[in-house]
Amino acid sequence: MRRTFSGHGASRGNALGRARIRLPHALEVSEEHIRADAVEAELERLHEAIAQVRGELRGLRERLHGALAHEVGEFLDLHALLLDDPELLQGLDELIRKGRYSADYALRLHRDRLAGVFEGMDNAYFRSRIEDLDHVVGRLHAALHSHEAELQGVAGEILVTDNVAPSELAQLQSQGVLAVITAGGSMLSHSAILARSLHLPLVVGAPEALQQINDGDVVAVDGAGGQVVVEPNAADLRAYRGRVREERRERKQLHRLRREPTRTLDGVDIRLYANAESREDVAESHALGAAGIGLYRTEFLFLQREGLPDEEEQFRAYRDAVLGMTGRMVTIRTLDLGADKSDRSGLTLPREPNPAMGCRGVRLSLAREEVFVSQLRAILRASGYGPLRILVPMVTERAEILAVAGLIKRIARDLRSGGHEIAEHVPLGAMIEVPAAAIALSSFIGAVDFISVGTNDLTQYLLAADRNNEALGELYHPLHPAMMRLLRNVIRTAKARRKPVAVCGEMAGDPAFTPLLLALGLEEFSLHPGTLLEVRRAIRALDLGRLRAQAPALLRARDRAGIEKWLASA
Ligand code: PEP
Ligand code: MG
Repeated sequence: MRRTFSGHGASRGNALGRARIRLPHALEVSEEHIRADAVEAELERLHEAIAQVRGELRGLRERLHGALAHEVGEFLDLHALLLDDPELLQGLDELIRKGRYSADYALRLHRDRLAGVFEGMDNAYFRSRIEDLDHVVGRLHAALHSHEAELQGVAGEILVTDNVAPSELAQLQSQGVLAVITAGGSMLSHSAILARSLHLPLVVGAPEALQQINDGDVVAVDGAGGQVVVEPNAADLRAYRGRVREERRERKQLHRLRREPTRTLDGVDIRLYANAESREDVAESHALGAAGIGLYRTEFLFLQREGLPDEEEQFRAYRDAVLGMTGRMVTIRTLDLGADKSDRSGLTLPREPNPAMGCRGVRLSLAREEVFVSQLRAILRASGYGPLRILVPMVTERAEILAVAGLIKRIARDLRSGGHEIAEHVPLGAMIEVPAAAIALSSFIGAVDFISVGTNDLTQYLLAADRNNEALGELYHPLHPAMMRLLRNVIRTAKARRKPVAVCGEMAGDPAFTPLLLALGLEEFSLHPGTLLEVRRAIRALDLGRLRAQAPALLRARDRAGIEKWLASA
């Protein structure tokens, strides 16, 4: 019989397939005791399971590359840390040794105990970490029973589950799963962000899914509207086919835009650069006709390994990016470790009281000059192979830029006298992501050749809303009147001084925000290659003159609703 319900459409796309219900995260274990002489064997069983899960997490980490490594890696690291937590390990040992519980029951008891502690915390971020605890416990439980902890997907099926971790999502897509429906989860979760960049339809926050869908039912999913139809009838199938046709038409249309200019209706050319962090990203950006690489995140070289990469390894990566873009500009951002991007090499400071406001980005680079020098040497050497410029993250004041410029000058001299061929002039730019730098831009813009606005961090610092704290929900959002005014002023200041200005945060890659950025005067975007064609299409349908004339109304908006209203009529 036909049933229908809805959740939140977290990642658009349509799918029709048989449902497979998987609930690996639930831990239903009844009380179970063991004999005294079985304690040692039980402990050994537990420790083997822990070692296996450690290996699994490491293996997953190594299989990730490109943007996935960046987005999913942080979660895997967090889960690996939990697994090393003495509180967790000792507690389990004690329950088995003293309580003579089975490893399974000890795991459940201890999970509930820790979850109770997390739940009692004032800090919503810690409360929300129960989800991470459950992912780790779920894996351990699976390892104890030698079955797969990963949500296993089957090609052509739609997975229905309680919740999905970012690492699982990446895996499910490669297994050919058509769509995912989860009872829990939110639109702002990292899984949701990742599903959007993977183009995998995802409906979250649909508790009815677990009651309404049975294993093997046929299900139609609309990832945009969050609608789910179980056992669809003829009219549903017709509607589904209509949506798929529309989707296909859109994809084809987008594909044709690969070789088209990014030109507004009134004939103004806008430059679309790509954000990249791997050779694959560079190749994709080139194929899509990106104007160049506007943000090459160098952290991935440092995050996927134990020690620090040496100058040679870095040089090869940067040189390959330059060669891959065949003469188009490549913007290498210097290391932006720290805050939520900590490495395993010990470069970042352990346990800073407030890491997002701590020693990250250029602050860390200047504090660890030997590491910074080896990176700058590698970048400057790559400049001998094609157009390249250097972008410095987390700039707060003029002195930082001057210090970097001084180092570059000295290193360039050393390299030339060492016989290296490097570019005559390597432009130096600052990321504008600290509000102080945005507000006082005119005080140091003379010291840089270009700027790029990091709206991801600028939003979090301007609104004092942690970009990784899901508990803050909608508070972390760029559509705030303060953000509109700041962006307008930054773009205006840069243009007045004839310095190129781009936006390279996620905002630039969302076609819903394109009219707004154009209205504020932006002419250079740097965005994930996955959304480049959509933004190009949006730009080609917009009249720049008309948008600019509407900018005062945008700046008068008093809240997010007002800005959204402006966007709806733009
Ligand atoms: C930003 O902050 O907007 C940005 C592009 O840098 P990241 O997301 O790497 O911090
Ligand atoms: Mg940033």
